Amino acid sequence: MTVARAARVAGVDDPAWQLYERIGTFLFDQRLEPDPANFAFAWHLLHDSDSPLARAVAALTDGGVRLTKRDIESLGVDSPASARSVREKADGLVAQTQMQVEGFQDMVQVMRAETAGFGRDLAASADAIRRYGTGSEGALFDELSRVTATMLERVHSAESRLENATREATELRDKLEEARDNARRDPLTELPNRRAFEEAYAELAATGAGLCVALCDVDHFKAVNDRFGHAVGDRVLKTIAETLKASCAGHLVARYGGEEFAILFADTALESARVTLDNARATVAAKRYRLRVTDAPLGGITFSAGLTFVAEGEPLATSVGRADRLLYAAKKDGRNCVHAS
Ligand code: GH3
Ligand code: MG
Ligand code: MG
Repeated sequence: MTVARAARVAGVDDPAWQLYERIGTFLFDQRLEPDPANFAFAWHLLHDSDSPLARAVAALTDGGVRLTKRDIESLGVDSPASARSVREKADGLVAQTQMQVEGFQDMVQVMRAETAGFGRDLAASADAIRRYGTGSEGALFDELSRVTATMLERVHSAESRLENATREATELRDKLEEARDNARRDPLTELPNRRAFEEAYAELAATGAGLCVALCDVDHFKAVNDRFGHAVGDRVLKTIAETLKASCAGHLVARYGGEEFAILFADTALESARVTLDNARATVAAKRYRLRVTDAPLGGITFSAGLTFVAEGEPLATSVGRADRLLYAAKKDGRNCVHAS
């Protein structure tokens, strides 16, 4: 079916058709290729105009600035299906190499036991032949011993090749595990990233344990970058990350995006989570940040937060959307505060 015909069939008032058109217009305006990654990005952006992503893009494109491929990557949206399949493949590979390592180790053990027994038997037979043997049996013994020595040598060489294979497979498994871990960690703050947060949410939401979600956003952070440079901004983010982690110990603190952090309070009532989060906020606000070189003060660094209790089985998009609206209210309320509900 042609696009024009599809439009007629769907009707211009059809929301699906309108979303499709908005995606196309957005990609065209931003001069982005209509490839699957950009298409998925545009879908995430446009299907909910009030999402954190939509607001982040609005901030980036304010004043007509065009998005770059790097912006899209840093906003961290990939097709959920493809991300899941990459994750599943990586998990499968780790499990597969683990099984391979275990198989190799078993084989080496069996071979060691067998060759040790074989050597012992051979030595005993040689002794017996020497003790009771005649001249012709002696010649037979020599031949037997030569053949067996060759066999033993081959077994030893196979054993050492297997040991090498075991070592290589172990290294491969470790590297895969490391890659899997890196994919879930933010390199700047070393906190779990958004992907790790989403996975933890999915796991905890499924258990039905009392769960609260918080979104924290650093106040006027753009001004920190503008006044002191990006490197100083990075160090501030690292310090905030450390403070949040220490103040919310026992809960999952993740870097959710640029200057946004998300916290998952498991098995925690809303009021208790609010008290913990507000203490974290006060600790961050009380710190005196200074420039490393000149020791000049940076001025107050604060964050605002939205905190909400997660209803049983509630999807992440719904609870995070609510936390984001509360965060927005906290910003409007003068910043440096927590709104909970
Ligand atoms: P608000 O109080 O409304 O949140 O104001 P804001 O200035 O914090 O918000 P805005 O969204 O305008 O700016 C966020 C800034 O965070 C812009 C972006 O350059 C900066 N940022 C995002 N990620 C990083 C990072 O990894 N390092 C540094 N240094 N800056 C970052
Ligand atoms: Mg922000
Ligand atoms: Mg901010």
